[in-house]
Amino acid sequence: MLDCLMTPEEKRLREEVRAFVRDDVDKKLLREMDADLVRYPREFLEKAAARGLLGLRFPAAYGGRGLPWASEIVALEEVGVLGTALACLYALVSIVGEAIDKFGSEKLKQKYLRPAIEGRLTTAEALTEPRGGSDFFGATTTARREGDYYVLNGQKRFVVGSEGADCFLVYARTNPDGPPHKSISAFIVDRGPGVKADYIYGLMGTRGGGTGRLVFQDCRVPAENLLGEENNGSAIFYQMMIPERMTSAAGAIGGARAALEVAARYSTRRKAFGLEIKNFQAVSFKVADCVTKLDAARGITYIAARSVDTGDPPALSRRLVSEAKKAATEYAWDVVNHAMQIMGGIGYTNVYPIEKMLRDTRLIMIWTGTNEIMDLIIQHEYFKEMAGERQGSRSRDVEWDAAEADRLDEKIYE
Ligand SMILES: Cc1cc2nc3c(=O)[nH]c(=O)nc-3n(C[C@H](O)[C@H](O)[C@H](O)COP(=O)(O)OP(=O)(O)OC[C@H]3O[C@@H](n4cnc5c(N)ncnc54)[C@H](O)[C@@H]3O)c2cc1C
Repeated sequence: MLDCLMTPEEKRLREEVRAFVRDDVDKKLLREMDADLVRYPREFLEKAAARGLLGLRFPAAYGGRGLPWASEIVALEEVGVLGTALACLYALVSIVGEAIDKFGSEKLKQKYLRPAIEGRLTTAEALTEPRGGSDFFGATTTARREGDYYVLNGQKRFVVGSEGADCFLVYARTNPDGPPHKSISAFIVDRGPGVKADYIYGLMGTRGGGTGRLVFQDCRVPAENLLGEENNGSAIFYQMMIPERMTSAAGAIGGARAALEVAARYSTRRKAFGLEIKNFQAVSFKVADCVTKLDAARGITYIAARSVDTGDPPALSRRLVSEAKKAATEYAWDVVNHAMQIMGGIGYTNVYPIEKMLRDTRLIMIWTGTNEIMDLIIQHEYFKEMAGERQGSRSRDVEWDAAEADRLDEKIYE
């Protein structure tokens, strides 16, 4: 995050998280995760919890620090340096925690939120289905009420923590014949009978986070594990856009920053034609482009955080959070590509970590809603805002400043 936007407390938090990222995470773990030798590094979450770094936004009563988003993004950028798999596992406490904190009963908060923040229980979010992730309301997993239980049947795909997590936030259709927006509910589902995890994907990157498929077969979930009201999963889904996208945006910045640091340092050492390559504008201007994009990403991510923290209308925050996710992930992709180009052929090998960062970074434009879905939301909210503003607006309408603005006979729309 940009220093000029940070409070003294946030600067201290940054130091705390930097110490954790620097000292507590062994490179052996990162290498073994990328080699698929470690499938789910539970100890990473335990160590973060030991330093009190999980679930920073949640109330102290549940083990958090009651911090705003503007502070959490400081931590997320630092953890993003570790790559997408660990950043995602770190973020999942914030993501799944949001649903429990906002929609769960006190009993669920004690049973799931507190232990997740304390690193005693690990969580995952199961939203995407084999038939599609973008079309959330087309979900086909069902939950049928039977006495004090719901019985879940269906499949979820690409779930980080499918292998390894203790419980899952699962969306399922509770009213199969109802309108899509009023027929889905959200549950906390424990790993156990009726839940099968298949570790089946050969991922390009983001390895070691336990990404897999979940199959629910007559899985009995206590009715008290329903989050919010039955058939009101849409409210949770809309709320969850905030933590999903804020964490993606802020994590992306950390990963890209780390790649730039490696490449910029290389450019001060590597020589070609008798000069350090940083002396070639083709190289140093790429560095300039990266620095600019990283700061732009920080700026929009901070604005989105402030929008949520200050209680802007939810639709406005949703637009800003979607913009932050789109901008930060696309800028991060540009930065990592530039980093690889700056390093030449050696950047394409595993002598340096850039090739792994590139594989990781490609995902972030796809997950937590593809960037096309971000565009869908951004334009939708913008047009809605524009329609509202037209009615009560006092801002200048520059359309009428054109010299021939009165030529209504030329203003043909159909
Ligand atoms: C490694 C990994 C980890 C993941 N982790 C999780 C997780 O933990 N939990 C979870 O629930 N999901 C997870 N996902 C799933 C991810 O969020 C989805 O892959 C993503 O939302 C896209 O869904 P899809 O793959 O079904 O693509 P589809 O929805 O089939 O989309 C295919 C293409 O069509 C485009 N498209 C679809 N609809 C529209 C539209 N209306 N307008 C414009 N373009 C459109 C999309 O942008 C995309 O380019 C993960 C995925 C991967 C690969």
